Amino acid sequence: MYRSKHVGRNIVTTFEATLQDEQTLALEHELREGLSNGEITVYYQPQIDLSSGIIVGVEALVRWLHPSRGLLPPGEFIQLAEECGLIVELGETVLRMACLEMKRWEQQGISYETVWVNLSPRQFQSPDLLSSIQTILRETGLPPTSLGLEITESLAMKNTDQIMNKLHQLRDLGVRIAIDDFGTGYSSLSYLQQFPINVIKVDKSFTKLSSDEQNPRFIVTAILALARELNLRVIAEGMEHIEQIHWMRQEGCDYAQGYVVARPMTPELLSETYLELSDRARELVH
Ligand code: C2E
Ligand code: MG
Ligand code: MG
Ligand code: MG
Repeated sequence: MYRSKHVGRNIVTTFEATLQDEQTLALEHELREGLSNGEITVYYQPQIDLSSGIIVGVEALVRWLHPSRGLLPPGEFIQLAEECGLIVELGETVLRMACLEMKRWEQQGISYETVWVNLSPRQFQSPDLLSSIQTILRETGLPPTSLGLEITESLAMKNTDQIMNKLHQLRDLGVRIAIDDFGTGYSSLSYLQQFPINVIKVDKSFTKLSSDEQNPRFIVTAILALARELNLRVIAEGMEHIEQIHWMRQEGCDYAQGYVVARPMTPELLSETYLELSDRARELVH
């Protein structure tokens, strides 16, 4: 009795696994098609300087304009792209679009200091990363100092010679480097001192202003003190309320990004609303 039940469960599991494999394969195929059909697009979210209220940078956030499912956020396809290797091509597409967009804004009289682009671990470890970035910068004419790369804390944590070398090569190119979602990786802090990075982005889970004991404010204060000591700039992520902006500013955080400033949007909308956004950003810090 027990045995047949056991077998039965295995059959179901195998069936489900096959179904899942097929769905994954289908999605992978669609993503490959989507990439060559120009369905991959990039939204941009502004970042403000907390002392002046000036919009200093933007973060590039990928979107997939799926023909039947509509606009898909990265959470729906980045993991898959990472697993099947499409992330390298996808990442290059985003990098190129972001650099081109910076040049386009410049032509419209809008110049941000930095466009930040997220790099996945596999993309970072790809042997072609450096040459591909060099090519994109050369072809788009964007100065390397205007490009920032966001890497994950878990990648930085690995702290191998290979990763360290690559970071130094990137820094030698002149691009800026940020640790994204800082604080979520439960990492040793020693890598911060050893790594050639410019910026840490404090994850939104720490910047919430709640009386939640799980999320005490002194963590942010401690991160800011650490960053000051190591001469790193700090961006606070996930700012949804003006109170968070005021608090971060008071604590001496350099920059802020979040829905209270603006949601990620198309580059066209960002240009169209630039003046409004700038006024709003200045008001937020006063
Ligand atoms: P991330 O790099 O930490 O980006 C910030 C995420 O928080 C974005 O989600 C953004 O829309 C969202 N966000 C911004 N402000 C607020 C706020 O005030 N409140 C809340 N609750 N959320 C806010 P999105 O666009 O869905 O991206 C999710 C993640 O996908 C990113 O997290 C990043 O890790 C990854 N990602 C995005 N674009 C790319 C890409 O081109 N390449 C790679 N490898 N990963 C990407
Ligand atoms: Mg990011
Ligand atoms: Mg982040
Ligand atoms: Mg995040």
